Amino acid sequence: MHNFVAMDAHCHLDLFKEPRAVAVRAEERGVGVVAVTNIPRVFEKNRKIFSGVSGVLVGLGLHPELAATPEADLSLFETLLPRTVVVGEIGLDARPQAYKSLDRQRDVFEQILRACKGREKILSLHSPRAVNEVLDSLERYVPEEDTVKILHWFTGTRAQARRAVDLGCYFSVNAAMVNKGRDHALLGSIPVERMLVETDGPFLASRGKPAEPTAVLETDFALAQFLQWEKFALRDQLLATANKIFARCS
Ligand code: MN
Repeated sequence: MHNFVAMDAHCHLDLFKEPRAVAVRAEERGVGVVAVTNIPRVFEKNRKIFSGVSGVLVGLGLHPELAATPEADLSLFETLLPRTVVVGEIGLDARPQAYKSLDRQRDVFEQILRACKGREKILSLHSPRAVNEVLDSLERYVPEEDTVKILHWFTGTRAQARRAVDLGCYFSVNAAMVNKGRDHALLGSIPVERMLVETDGPFLASRGKPAEPTAVLETDFALAQFLQWEKFALRDQLLATANKIFARCS
């Protein structure tokens, strides 16, 4: 991560119309990217697309919303797992649109966590309406510090945030979380040294367009304003945390 100024800790680079161009723009601005993926089948393709672009870390993922589809190929997932440190997007989703598949999601998530145990992976975790259960699973299957747990777009309560902090979790904070009043109180309960920033692009917008990784250069300033930090000091703090976590990827 030499010469980088920021890290987008959760972005679906492969879902942009021109993924490599988006990655190159991030590289030019000094923004590293955790390029999460949603199904194991696209992992190697992603690595090819972004090869040679520095600062892009491709994650091996199986999105909970796809856990009950034929794309949820766990044997392929386990085959690919030794090729990457970053695992995401994974997790559980108990919102109404995903509720039907919750049992299958649980099986998939458990198998993934069991496979990751003791292998020094970095997990990017999805947890809408399923925070307690995601935390229960992390505590049960990957309690050790050598598994880095990053809760992406966390929407739990302050009590749940405190529990996650006690479990050693990090939080990747996006623009929606910084801008919303409800999440503001939540952000106040997360220690700054456990924070990262993310775009979750292209699912979130920035200035009316899908949020590219470079948008974290605005999110960190907005977060600094909320936390009453000097903006470059917070940027440096977030980068130091990212460097500490992702050093094992180089
Ligand atoms: Mn996502």
